[in-house]
Amino acid sequence: MNRAKLFENIKKIQSRIAAACLRAGRNPKDIVLVAVTKQVDPANIIEAHHFGLTNFGENTIQEASLKISTLKVEANWHFIGHLQKNKLNKAISLNFSLIQSIDSLELAQLLDEKLRPTGAIQNVLLEINIAKEPQKHGFDPQELPLVFEEISKLKNIKPLGLMTMGPEKENSEAMRPYFREAKKIFDSLTKKTPLEILSMGMSNNFEVAIEEGATMVRVGRAMFEGE
Ligand SMILES: *Cc1c(COP(=O)(O)O)cnc(C)c1O
Repeated sequence: MNRAKLFENIKKIQSRIAAACLRAGRNPKDIVLVAVTKQVDPANIIEAHHFGLTNFGENTIQEASLKISTLKVEANWHFIGHLQKNKLNKAISLNFSLIQSIDSLELAQLLDEKLRPTGAIQNVLLEINIAKEPQKHGFDPQELPLVFEEISKLKNIKPLGLMTMGPEKENSEAMRPYFREAKKIFDSLTKKTPLEILSMGMSNNFEVAIEEGATMVRVGRAMFEGE
């Protein structure tokens, strides 16, 4: 895609974020926009970085590795896909600023174990399967409080909050109850341990997610689609 179209897309997304914040009485500065760059041409990632974006999300370790090593832009890379146990060493070597998709206690424990000798502390989010869809990864909302407590005891990973995708609904309004439920869980956890990040909302529904309390949105197609 050409840079004019990309810049137009980014500006549009930023103004839609601002408008959603206005409706919700929130400050746009409190929303982090993560550009989801899976399958995006590296040249476009560099352009988005020139435009001022600094948070990029990838959903496979292989693609993330390729882009992080070749692009060398000053940026925060987020991992947002299902993390396989046999990719943990590689994931650690990539130094993600945030792994958003911790979806089992076993994965958290293994990651912690592998990090221990390095002394590094990895920031993570726990992924909730908010609609309890059998085909989706993530914790069951009911099990989350207990799991969160267990993961909080681990020394080399630091849970900063929650991430959810929610069911794929074309109609963004249909997502509202799921986002609201995720915010409720986030707030109840926050009573014990103040959390910073609630990552929810994608191209089709980020405005509703912001209205319901998202602090981070992950946008791909709305940014990178077009001629
Ligand atoms: C692809 C993806 C996104 C972005 O989706 P779009 O519809 O392209 O905005 C967000 N989060 C995760 C986990 C993804 O895999």
